[in-house]
Amino acid sequence: MGARDLIREAAEVLASRKNAVALTGAGISVESGIPAFRGAQGLWERYDPMEYATIAAFLRDPGKVWIMLSEMIDILARAVPNAAHRGLAELERMGILRSVITQNVDGLHQAAGSRKVIEFHGNAEALVCIACWKRYVSREKIRDGIPPRCECGEILKPDLVLFGEPIPWVAQGDAETEAEGCSVLLVAGTSAEVSPACEIPRLSKKRGAFVIEINPEETQLTRAVADLHIPATAGEALSSLVAAIRGN
Ligand code: NAD
Ligand code: ZN
Repeated sequence: MGARDLIREAAEVLASRKNAVALTGAGISVESGIPAFRGAQGLWERYDPMEYATIAAFLRDPGKVWIMLSEMIDILARAVPNAAHRGLAELERMGILRSVITQNVDGLHQAAGSRKVIEFHGNAEALVCIACWKRYVSREKIRDGIPPRCECGEILKPDLVLFGEPIPWVAQGDAETEAEGCSVLLVAGTSAEVSPACEIPRLSKKRGAFVIEINPEETQLTRAVADLHIPATAGEALSSLVAAIRGN
């Protein structure tokens, strides 16, 4: 199938079934200038996520991990939503998309106007004390130097899920409810390598949902789970999808 046929078929499925949910990963924010882990450039060439983004590494040497975190928080603070985030917000306004489950910690779905966003891996905006749970605003707190400390003297950690940490139970439950209740799952910009988020497409599929994957590369979902794979960037694919549905 040519690119235009793929977009047309995806648009028809979305417009006729409605009741869609999106699952997004780092790839959807690449066009906003935030590097993803896989196919990585920039930040992750200097900091191997498997070495830096684990809770064990953080607790062993918070000062070292905070060098990477403060750089990441700076990149996130400068980023703005791209056509993919805007496209998903538009699909929600059109009554086609009911929620977004995101693995991202950048807040760009909300910035683009999506109202129902489940943050599976938390958010980098807030810091939380590892001893007393007091919360702070990331940008303000790291201006005083790193690693940032709580007024109780303990180290602060961004309120996001590092490798080795559990998924916040409310997000886990909400994501499962959405994944099992949708009739179309739109998976965009995820390598589907990070567990347990990578289980979500199978939950939807088991309940009979049509799975559309948007990713320039093939992933482990492409042949095993996806009903339709659109090999394009998230920005291109989602803006074309919105245009095609409007034209329907
Ligand atoms: P990943 O880094 O494992 O995979 C990214 C995927 O996006 C790849 O399959 C790649 O082919 C695809 N991709 C690259 N450019 C794309 C584009 N323009 N459009 C569509 N797809 C594109 O990402 P993951 O599966 O989300 O897992 C990594 C973990 O790290 C997640 O928890 C993720 O959210 C987190 N992380 C978050 C951010 C962020 O908040 N923006 C950035 C890096 C990593
Ligand atoms: Zn504290």
